[in-house]
Amino acid sequence: MLNVVIFGAPGSGKGTQSDLIVKKYGLVHLSTGDLLRAEIEKGTKTGKLANELISKGSFVPDDVIIEILNKNIDLYPTAKGFIFDGFPRTVVQSEALDSMLKKRNIKVNVMLNIDVKTDELVKRLLIRGKTSGRSDDNLETIQKRIRIYEEKTLPVMQFYDRQGKHNRIKGDGTMDEVFAEICTAIDKTKA
Ligand code: ADP
Repeated sequence: MLNVVIFGAPGSGKGTQSDLIVKKYGLVHLSTGDLLRAEIEKGTKTGKLANELISKGSFVPDDVIIEILNKNIDLYPTAKGFIFDGFPRTVVQSEALDSMLKKRNIKVNVMLNIDVKTDELVKRLLIRGKTSGRSDDNLETIQKRIRIYEEKTLPVMQFYDRQGKHNRIKGDGTMDEVFAEICTAIDKTKA
């Protein structure tokens, strides 16, 4: 099993790189953002809550996210591994992921931290906002998401650092350059 956590600020390219990783390594992609947007589409109770919080740039509560993820892992009993995208975003979620995986006798093998400068993040998200139709890709919400990322999500980096799983990836190169660095980090853990 190969379980990857892809980590980075909003706009760092997690989704794009996840697609490339899925193609090359055959992992199941679990993006909490995508799962929440699917709940919104379906109009579920969770979707209604998520809709309100996401458009404000706030986080969905840890227990809600943890339950969604737990359910989704079980949908893929034959998976070769998972790529967790947008999760964990808080230290509580990191601890929950560890115990969720431990129960299934698996673990996170590698954490990829896609590092991009704040100016570049804002620029990319504003461009994406022109076509994404996402309620959170506007300047005010983008700035708030980056602020919350720094406050709540950066400590997750230290969590994986302590476990020796943290790999910093230079995220401002071309898509292929970033992917090449990612593959080096993944292959190193498999060797
Ligand atoms: P981005 O990385 O661009 O912010 P995502 O699609 O990963 O985009 O997430 C969009 C929004 O969904 C977040 O701003 C947050 O409101 C909510 N969300 C996604 N994942 C989580 C999570 N693990 N914990 C709390 N909220 C989450």
